Amino acid sequence: MCAPLHPLPHRVRPSFFPTPCTGYQSHPERPVQAAAPLAQGQGRMLFDVWLKSLPEHSFRHVRVDLDTLHAAPLPFLGDNQTVFQIEHLSMYLSSQPTLIRQAAIRYSLYVRQLDAIQERENVIRHICAHECPRPPPGCCNGEHHVILSFSDFMFASPTQNAMHLAHVITGLQQREHAHALARGGHLRPDSCSHLTTTGCSLRMFKSPRCIHYLCPQVIETITAAYGDRASAFLAAMHTTGNQVIHGMEDFTSALVIRTAEALFIR
Ligand code: SF4
Ligand code: SF4
Repeated sequence: MCAPLHPLPHRVRPSFFPTPCTGYQSHPERPVQAAAPLAQGQGRMLFDVWLKSLPEHSFRHVRVDLDTLHAAPLPFLGDNQTVFQIEHLSMYLSSQPTLIRQAAIRYSLYVRQLDAIQERENVIRHICAHECPRPPPGCCNGEHHVILSFSDFMFASPTQNAMHLAHVITGLQQREHAHALARGGHLRPDSCSHLTTTGCSLRMFKSPRCIHYLCPQVIETITAAYGDRASAFLAAMHTTGNQVIHGMEDFTSALVIRTAEALFIR
């Protein structure tokens, strides 16, 4: 059985953003809280290094992005890492329309929460690394990072906003991939073009398909650990990962986070 997780302390919402943001301490009036217990260690450092590598185009939207996005509950993230992530992505995406920029940042926070679940519990990540029933490349046997395929365009008719968001996320994927390779990642042949010898080059901007997929082996292990309590979370992951993307709301699922919270935190 996995170690129980702990609820976050009360969130503090920023209300003022006077200077270009450079990190956790950029808001002088905001108390800096301890990081959430669910997203620490090497994974967190990798996120931060990549976020810091993004060009800081403009900080003019940072305040409104913090006010909007930091207000939503993010049960698997700490305040520091949430603020840091919003700040850096807001600066990098400053030329995007507010709706798309905030949707892309919201998506990154969602993916980060799913990553935190895997990192802390270590169930899924351990199985993928050591007990994959079909290694290599496991389920990374195709270009699953592609958010909208040709058939999606032809048959699902995604909205303009969904296509714009997919385009922005794809650009961020390219940056993340290039960053991983520049830091010494080596691609595996005959697999997804984003699979390296140490795993996927994407962490913050994996596709909806990739972040929600759980193979039978992983489902079996989680069910063995949590019993029937895991069924709602597993069902939400399956449904979301398989849904056709029409609008921006189809990239993520509040139900996934709610069921994960009920399973891993409460
Ligand atoms: S999800 Fe399953 S198939 Fe995919 S890498 Fe992990 S263990 Fe292997
Ligand atoms: S993008 Fe990453 S997780 Fe998705 S299939 Fe490719 S290597 Fe695997």
